[in-house]
Amino acid sequence: MKVKRAKAYKKAMNLYVQSFGFRKPYQVIVDSEFIQVALDQKIDPVYQIPKVLLDSAKQMVTPCTIAKLRSLGDEGFGAFLAAKRLEKRRCPHQTAVDEHECIAKIISNDNKHRYLVGSQSKKLRALFRQVPGVPLLYINRSVLILEPPSEATTLKVQENEHAKTHATQEEMVRLKATTVRANGHVVVDRKLAEKVEKSHEKKLEKLQLKKQELAKKRKGAKEPNPLSVKKKKKETTTTTTTTTTKSTTEVDKALSSTISTLAEGSAAPAPASAPAPTPTPTPTRAAEAVVLTSAEKKKQKKKEAKKLKRKMQQQQHQDASSAGEDSD
Ligand SMILES: [Zn+2]
Repeated sequence: MKVKRAKAYKKAMNLYVQSFGFRKPYQVIVDSEFIQVALDQKIDPVYQIPKVLLDSAKQMVTPCTIAKLRSLGDEGFGAFLAAKRLEKRRCPHQTAVDEHECIAKIISNDNKHRYLVGSQSKKLRALFRQVPGVPLLYINRSVLILEPPSEATTLKVQENEHAKTHATQEEMVRLKATTVRANGHVVVDRKLAEKVEKSHEKKLEKLQLKKQELAKKRKGAKEPNPLSVKKKKKETTTTTTTTTTKSTTEVDKALSSTISTLAEGSAAPAPASAPAPTPTPTPTRAAEAVVLTSAEKKKQKKKEAKKLKRKMQQQQHQDASSAGEDSD
């Protein structure tokens, strides 16, 4: 193992010991894939894990993991045998559940039993990064890796440290701002006390800001680009407006078409009365409809006049011919 990496691991484990109360030997819950990959890569975790953690450690498996390996049959037989040799960590499941669900149940949201987790599942490790104080191990190409402490972990450490300094700060206020006089009277320098308190408040605000930033980052992971989101919003509003304009134009079309059909179907009074109930939206269209219908009316009148003329001519012709026949 490289010296640099060993230093980082030592620092990380010191953090877990000092801030989260981890004790030796460390207890590492491993999952089925971790055992399987260790076998495939010819890593002996019994030897390798203490080397990485720089102290004694024991591996544990839950009954749900053993059940998973058993269910794999011949394929998982080697890993099944390896798992059987590890210490069993009891779990609340009467019948086996998904092993990751099982481990998540044990770690819960505080990892109060101080477990490390060895897993090849990125999803599971991502989940435990959200829980402060869960050291994570995985195997990368025959190398056992200890993940650096997660953001949730380091933030919790900062909070704890702040809480500690907060206590001493109260003492500082007492020490700095109060004086005991020779006659036994205690005098408090209020200005000084306020100063000390204010500096403490500033520190608290800074910590709060960091927390908010972390929360934002988490949200950001879900919605990668806030700018693009804004753009999308704009787009949706424009589309909605265009659709509304479309719909109004469609309404206009429908209105005008119904008006024109009305005018075509039955005669004179329709166009005059039709635009009256919709006064504001389509004055030009209504006017067009009126113009159209009046033109059509003229045409119809002309046609009717022509028809009448023809009929008259035909009748006259018939009359004339029949009169000629009669005369013959
Ligand atoms: Zn279980």
